[in-house]
Amino acid sequence: MNFEMEYRRLGKSGLKVSVFSFGSWVTFSNQLNEKAATELMEYAYDNGINFFDNAEIYANGNSEIIMGKILKKTGWSRDTYILSSKVFWGGEKPTQIGLSRKHITDGCHAALKRLQVEYIDLFFCHRPDPETPIEETVRAMDVLIQQGKVLYWGTSEWEAEQITEAYEIAEKFNLTPPTMEQPEYNLFNRGKIEKDYLPLYKKYGLGTTIWSPLASGLLTGKYNHGFPSNSRVYVKGYEWLKEQFESDETIQKIGKVKELQPIAERLEISLTQLALGYCLKNPNVSTIILGASKKEQLKENLGTLSIVDKITDSTIKDINKVLDK
Ligand code: NDP
Repeated sequence: MNFEMEYRRLGKSGLKVSVFSFGSWVTFSNQLNEKAATELMEYAYDNGINFFDNAEIYANGNSEIIMGKILKKTGWSRDTYILSSKVFWGGEKPTQIGLSRKHITDGCHAALKRLQVEYIDLFFCHRPDPETPIEETVRAMDVLIQQGKVLYWGTSEWEAEQITEAYEIAEKFNLTPPTMEQPEYNLFNRGKIEKDYLPLYKKYGLGTTIWSPLASGLLTGKYNHGFPSNSRVYVKGYEWLKEQFESDETIQKIGKVKELQPIAERLEISLTQLALGYCLKNPNVSTIILGASKKEQLKENLGTLSIVDKITDSTIKDINKVLDK
């Protein structure tokens, strides 16, 4: 393939993460069995991706089990890839949910087992937990780091104020601060990355591992004329997504995708690459977590690296004109 993978520091940490990474959310176990998932992970790794994203909730743990088996099978050296898990939704019992010291500890131990590894590189609090003091969460993460079970901890979809509180607590008690946050970021959802977190990049060197860069596929343009039969809206358990895609809000978004099409055409790139290239241009993005149910998708998405220079300030102005209308 005609591109070179770029590696960025994860915030101010010394960890070099590939600017495109690969996640398993809807796909592993639901759309991809172990064989198909292996093919995609191998393709990703062979093309320079070094970060694989997971969570305890994905396919109720099965996604991590599949990824663990693949990592064993491929035999990739543990020091060549970065692995994450996220803790919050571990089960239905009161002790299995949230960010208590207990669930964080149990969640980490269970993920290590499923992934069959000795440590997790990035461990995320999957959502904020209003029922646990942030100090309890910071202390629990610090202990896992001291024990060598986790290397870096972070948050996902926390408000800037909550992340700031975590930094202040860590500073006050000399605990390990968070390194990264995992927010949604795509052309339809830009507030956290482009506005709310701005002070955090500067003050704390916050890294970001952004999710759903294609808004679950909407930004590829493939929903512009109805729902393709083999797409994620038809995956069992994701009926809520289909409903969301049928809403007035999504219909409006599809209208915008259609308006973005001529911009992509002028640059002779696909809509998908326009959307990914926009995220790639943002220096506050450490890595863009791709999802893919087919190898061709991964190929097209990684190809963005070879066209990103076509996306100039004037392109971004044109994109904003469509989105801000
Ligand atoms: P995207 O928004 O990029 O959606 C990926 C999906 O879009 C693919 O599975 C595929 O779906 C379709 N697609 C991708 N590329 C193409 C292409 N070139 N042409 C046509 N269709 C394409 O990302 P995800 O929503 O999957 O999120 C990525 C990762 O982020 C997740 O795997 C997960 O690791 C993480 N994440 C984290 C969250 C958090 O709360 N922290 C929440 C959600 C995700 P299809 O099968 O329909 O073709």
